[in-house]
Amino acid sequence: MTMAQMIRQHGFRKWYERELVLSHLHLVLLVLSLVGLLGSAEAYERGAPLLVQAWVGLCAAASAAIGLWALRRYLALLMHAEHVAHQAQCPACHAYARWSLIDEDQGGQRLQVQCQRCGHRWHIDG
Ligand SMILES: [Zn+2]
Repeated sequence: MTMAQMIRQHGFRKWYERELVLSHLHLVLLVLSLVGLLGSAEAYERGAPLLVQAWVGLCAAASAAIGLWALRRYLALLMHAEHVAHQAQCPACHAYARWSLIDEDQGGQRLQVQCQRCGHRWHIDG
């Protein structure tokens, strides 16, 4: 579902809230992957059998990979939500998030919106 479809269906505030929740869920995943990485470091023993060392190393690598992915998704979702939110204020009357979606283009990433208070139209880039 594109940003435009989501905003059209649920409104800007719900879309923004959903993006923030999703981004922070990725932050939770990042913390959990760090716990996994620290647990792997704690479990690692130099004198352990090679298979155990390899298994612990694999767990550490998986935790690090998941953590990096979660960090990238967290930042991407948060930055995108903030980027759109900074454009959600009417340039004419400064009403925040009080607009209607009029049209969309570029795959739903560029929205034409109209202020519900003063009727001014502008674009929001996603
Ligand atoms: Zn306005």
